[in-house]
Amino acid sequence: MRRKLVAGNWKMNGSLAANSALLAGIKSGLDHPRCDIAVCVPAPYFAQCQQELAGTPIALGAQDMSAQSSGAYTGETSAAMLLEFGCRYVIVGHSERRAYHGESDQAVAAKTVHALASGLTPIVCVGETLTEREAAQTDVIVGRQVDVVLAALGAGDLAKIVIAYEPVWAIGTGKTATPEMAQQVHLMIRTKLAAVDHDAASKVQILYGGSMKPDNAKELLAMPDIDGGLIGGAALKAADFLAIIGAA
Ligand code: PEP
Repeated sequence: MRRKLVAGNWKMNGSLAANSALLAGIKSGLDHPRCDIAVCVPAPYFAQCQQELAGTPIALGAQDMSAQSSGAYTGETSAAMLLEFGCRYVIVGHSERRAYHGESDQAVAAKTVHALASGLTPIVCVGETLTEREAAQTDVIVGRQVDVVLAALGAGDLAKIVIAYEPVWAIGTGKTATPEMAQQVHLMIRTKLAAVDHDAASKVQILYGGSMKPDNAKELLAMPDIDGGLIGGAALKAADFLAIIGAA
């Protein structure tokens, strides 16, 4: 039985005061959670969040990182910097990075490999756009995104990654994939992983992301290959985030 993971993606939201209030609300409502929990916060708040999460079961994560170790890469954040602040997870290849920063499948694969080599757990995001889904290209697009990462992984690495299936048309739109639609893609992904390493594939947490909220989380999380959620909007409200954790 895989443990579930509920990871918040705060995106470019927050302030010192708002973060404190949000984390205090989450911490005070946590009651022996049965799942893994993480919050992926903007880099300037790593120190604050590391301090406020100390001694809690909530892990810290980043939303992106460089594939390079150090040097002349203005504006980038390295894996070593993430580790200094206690980050355990790093989101790679979020659709907003792919769309607004031109991140290719190859760049996402390079970040995944570098995160693993650095001791971080990458949450690798994949997902199709609405046009691609309407053209019945979901399996082709998501399959390709997964394949490029799989081809870059070293032996023994597969079991150490987390994948997040996030249909782009469902992110921040209020439109959610039905549990059956999501399960179908999750199963396709797991079948691909199993072709590489059957045992490792059974251990990989595959999260769903895209307008997951308290009112749809339970049904989504009941699906056999949905092992948690990557939560955007609902991760910014303590009550909603706690309700999703409760559903996991
Ligand atoms: C996300 O950005 O990863 C996400 C899933 O956002 P939302 O939950 O707001 O759709």
